[in-house]
Amino acid sequence: MPIQPKQPTAKGPAEWFTGDVYLDGIARGEEPSRVRVSTVRFTPSARTAWHSHAVGQTLYVTEGRGLVQSRGGGIEEIRPGDVIYAPADEWHWHGAAPDHFMTHLSITEAVPGDERPEVVWGEHVTDEEYHAR
Ligand code: MN
Repeated sequence: MPIQPKQPTAKGPAEWFTGDVYLDGIARGEEPSRVRVSTVRFTPSARTAWHSHAVGQTLYVTEGRGLVQSRGGGIEEIRPGDVIYAPADEWHWHGAAPDHFMTHLSITEAVPGDERPEVVWGEHVTDEEYHAR
């Protein structure tokens, strides 16, 4: 039962995020497990670009105040303890509220046989979209 030393925190790439976002990997299952778990920390106003997950995504908010929106829906506030499930292939974004940090766990799975990408990335969330609530 190995204890893994903590790996360095990664900066979320500017192609996929607006603002400063930091990623810490927690778990990456070995086949037949396909689980991926990471902690994602968003600075105020930081958010993902629009994207979808091939096998869905569960978010568990651990700190702060955040926002989430599915394509075609309204912007919803998310708080510590909230669990948000993005179904497979549903376009959405998530991030911090304008004046708060937000941290969530992200739980996803790899695609069986690597048949397609785990995440499909689209346009950035514009300031107009972000402030639309
Ligand atoms: Mn997502």
